[in-house]
Amino acid sequence: MDLDQVKNDLTKVLVTEEQIVSRVKELALEVDKMYAGKDLLLVGVLKGAVMFMADLSREMQIPVAMDWMAVSSYGSGTLSSGVVRILKDLDADVLGRHVLIVEDIIDSGLTLSWLASNLSARGAASVEIVAFLRKPDAAKVEVDVALVGFDIPNEFVVGYGLDYAEKYRTLKAVGILSPSIYS
Ligand code: IMP
Ligand code: MG
Repeated sequence: MDLDQVKNDLTKVLVTEEQIVSRVKELALEVDKMYAGKDLLLVGVLKGAVMFMADLSREMQIPVAMDWMAVSSYGSGTLSSGVVRILKDLDADVLGRHVLIVEDIIDSGLTLSWLASNLSARGAASVEIVAFLRKPDAAKVEVDVALVGFDIPNEFVVGYGLDYAEKYRTLKAVGILSPSIYS
């Protein structure tokens, strides 16, 4: 979906389609270098990482396997405990394999740090993270991110996989959602 369709729902365009395309190519080059000659499993986190995973993996030149996980923060309320429930587990066994977690955005970082240690505990040879976007709060927790697409301000954003109430995921750019939409 092009920006024109939703421009009234956004206060600002943060990352354009052109910027995304060019940055994803750079990231793919980095991943190719990191995993040259290794058996790499890309683990995409559903559903937000679908677009990023599809584009990143197709720009890569090394062969990779893809698998998916769906997780949700455990409990209710706004304070995330960092305890995560697995809604859909991997099909693949990660034992002895190099795992690269592909995520849409790191906000608090709690989900990702849980996921990384969970996959390490299963005996993966290595576990790294590539995140399309990162918010400033991510710096507050111990989450070692190998690669980041864009650092963005602490605003609620949509597009390129990121949703609000399942909308806007197919938008080709990333924008700040107007507060009028969710208030
Ligand atoms: P955290 O890093 O554990 O706080 O969880 C981050 C998750 O919250 C992401 O994977 C997204 O699904 C969601 N999220 C955080 N910030 C945004 C946003 O600005 N727009 C849409 N989803 C977001
Ligand atoms: Mg997510």
